[in-house]
Order: sequence, then C-alpha cells, then structure tokens
Amino acid sequence: MSRVYMDANATTPLLPEVMEAMRPYWMENFGNASSIHIDGQRAHMAVDQARETLARFFNCHAAEVVFNSGGTEGDNTAIIGMLHPGDHFITTSIEHSAVLRAAERVTQHGVETTFVAPRPCGLIDPEDILHALRPETRLISVMLANNETGVLQPVDEIGKIAADAGAFFHIDAVQGAGKIALDVRRFGCHLLSISAHKMYGPKGVGALFVRRGTPLESLLVGGNHERRRRAGTENVPGIVGLGKAAELAMESLESSAIERLAALRDRLEAGILEIAGTSVNGAWDGSTRVPRTANTTNIHFDQVEGEALVIALDLKGVAVSGGSACSSGSTEPSHVLMAMGLDKDAARASLRFSLLKMATEADVDHVFEVLPEAVKHLRALSPEVAGTLG
Ligand code: PLP
Repeated sequence: MSRVYMDANATTPLLPEVMEAMRPYWMENFGNASSIHIDGQRAHMAVDQARETLARFFNCHAAEVVFNSGGTEGDNTAIIGMLHPGDHFITTSIEHSAVLRAAERVTQHGVETTFVAPRPCGLIDPEDILHALRPETRLISVMLANNETGVLQPVDEIGKIAADAGAFFHIDAVQGAGKIALDVRRFGCHLLSISAHKMYGPKGVGALFVRRGTPLESLLVGGNHERRRRAGTENVPGIVGLGKAAELAMESLESSAIERLAALRDRLEAGILEIAGTSVNGAWDGSTRVPRTANTTNIHFDQVEGEALVIALDLKGVAVSGGSACSSGSTEPSHVLMAMGLDKDAARASLRFSLLKMATEADVDHVFEVLPEAVKHLRALSPEVAGTLG
C-alpha cells in the first residue's frame, strides 16, 4: 500500500540535494571546524558558507547566526539565557512545549511570566501583549506560526511593541521557516529560532539568530565555538544540510510552490468539510480569513475520538497527527486548541493535516477515499468511546 504522509509539521524528509550536500562531510571531509590544518579548514569553510546562507535566509549578518541542535535548544537558550530573577517575561499559552517548559524553568527561578491567551481564531492580539507589559518586562516570546493550526502571528506588530517598551523579542520560527519569508529586521526581533528537520533538512540541527549586542548567556559552556554563544564541536554535516535546506527553501519561496501547496491544502480542507459535523480550527475570525501557513489545516470531527481516527487513517495508509508530535502518546487534549476555547472533547476530536511541499493531488484523493468511511465507522462506535473517556 502506498502511504500518504500528511504530518510535515512533525518532521519532513531530507530533499535529495540536501543529502548530497551533506554526504562528503561524514567521511572525506570529516575535519573538526576548529582545527587549523587543511582538513579543519575545509570543515570551517563549509560552516562559514552555511552561515552566509542562513544570514540571507534571516536577513541578518553572518556573525548573528548561531548553529545549535534545533528548535528546542534555540527556544530554551533564548528564554533561559535572557532572563534573571526579578524579570518579567511575556509569552503565549499556544507556544510549543520547548517555550512553555523553559518558561516554567525560569518561573521557578524568580522570573514572573505572563501567558497571553489567543483569540478563539488562534491569533494573538498585539493589544493583549501591550496590556501585559510591565516596567520590568525584559523578554517577549511569540511564535511565528503555530505548529497545530498553522496560524501566523502578527510578529511585526509585536516587534514594534517590544521596541517601544525597550524589551527584547524572541520568535520561535520553527514552523514558519521555509513556509513564509523570514526577515528579522522587519520582525524587529532580537532572537529567532529555527530547526532544520521541519524544512527538509536533517534532524538535530538548527540555528538561532542573535541580534548583535543582545546580552544572551549561553546554555552550553566549554570551547569558544560560535563566538562563545554555544560550546560544542560543530555538527558540520548537519550545518551543511541546514544551509542547503535554507537555500532550497528560499528558491521555493520565490517560485509558485507555496501557492500550489495552499491550493492543495484548500482543496483537502474543502473536501473534508463536506463530511457532516466538521469544522476548521483557526481558519476564520468572523468573516475574515486568518493568515495560515500554506500546508496546515486543523479539523474538528464532531463525535470522533481523534486518536482513534489517527490510528484508523494510519491503517489506511495516511499519516496525520492529533496534536503536537511531542505530546503524542499522551491522551491530554491539545493545549493550543483548549486555549482557543475548545472544550476537552472538541480538542480530542481534532486532527492536524500538514502537507509536505511535494504533496500531490493523488495524496488528497487518497484521503477523500478513506476518511469519510473511517469517520462514519468511528461515529457508529461513538457512544462507547465517549463512555470510556469519561
Ligand atoms: N517550536 C515549534 C513551534 C515546533 O513545532 C517544534 C517541533 O515540533 C519545536 C519548537 C522544537 O524543535 P526541535 O524538534 O528541532 O527541537
């Protein structure tokens, strides 16, 4: 059975060009980028080249790019590395656990944190950030795109609010990178984290933009790597892979690939909505469309247990997700959907479809073939399922 993968927000496969770019750096060019001999210099040059590419990707200086192990490390570093006891921190209740757990950590160490809730459509209202400000607010952290709904947050406006208040601004751009153009100058942020494996690059590597002069303390100490911002021998093949993935992402943003993907997602969404008792989470604000990443839709299926539907679809060759991958395996309903006002049952009855950029019309047709039947079957069982959920 051919499989249809619609869980791109959990992770993406390497593009062949990324694999080819990385290949020499595992064996032939295995040098340590800190060594002074030719083998080291080759590795160093590859890292430098990737840094230049990331600088174009972010619209920043090469010296403002710090390579690391991915989104979790970038988010943790931005928060733990910026806040001290007595500081006030503003973030939102729809962030990824990499931000939320870091917020818990700093809160345990004397930082006061305000979690701003989204509007029911999934958007954070900049006014709510403004109202949360205090004289001692040091850092604001808001994601660019939500991993569960794809909703794009008004980071430009929040950046202006941060600038006026003299606060630092961090953006978790893990789910926005490669899907919309990044521009740290326009966003007005001091810190921005991305992860390679969400943009057709390798797992376990990412980058943090750190605006020149930002007083960030590094989490990892040791050697003088990354201008003392992040100690540890550079993951040269991973960094080369991230560089190539960023280059390909910029090309694809300049082509019509994103429009094509949005049209495919819209077709998928419209087809699913033909099933009775379905609605989209985070698509409309009254009669206005909410800005979303092109590949994501989050759908509520009335009277369906989401996890059971994920399994039923998996058996029919379709991979989707019931929430963020990091919380799969737990039966906790999505904190994002609950923050948007869904009750526990409605949140548990919601699924995320996130398309790869190489998704095809045939993939969508396959979903149309198997989904209505699976929903019908589960709805027939629904009273018992509701009974076991309590
Ligand atoms: N931030 C967001 C919005 C994410 O979706 C993820 C991964 O799901 C992360 C951070 C963590 O990134 P990584 O898997 O590279 O640690």
